[in-house]
Order: sequence, then structure tokens, then C-alpha cells
Amino acid sequence: MTTAATLTGICPECETDLTTPPMVDGETLSCPECMLTLRVEGVTDGTLSLEMVEVQLRDWGQ
Ligand SMILES: [Zn+2]
Repeated sequence: MTTAATLTGICPECETDLTTPPMVDGETLSCPECMLTLRVEGVTDGTLSLEMVEVQLRDWGQ
């Protein structure tokens, strides 16, 4: 048994391997490679499920 001090995940956009501090569902991080914002959808055995988050652009001019 090992205690995971970090979590790992893969960016869904650029497939970069990511290592993060422990995170919980709903937290967000930025991919260092493609700069996308990713949200934690779940954690399984120290592996993050990540999903892209739409950047909150408010200047649609509507
Ligand atoms: Zn990425």
C-alpha cells in the first residue's frame, strides 16, 4: 500500500501527463502545456478524471 501524495492525470486536450497535489471533485487546474482550464470530475486510485472547462468569456457582445 502506498499513500499518494500527488495525483496524476492526463490532459484531455493535449494528452500531457499531469501531476497535481491532492485535489477534490470540482476543483480546477490549468494545463501547463495548452493552458486549458481543466476540472476534476473524479479521482480513482490517485488518477484524476479531467474535463475541459469552457473559459468564461463574457465579452460576446450580446
Ligand atoms: Zn493540455
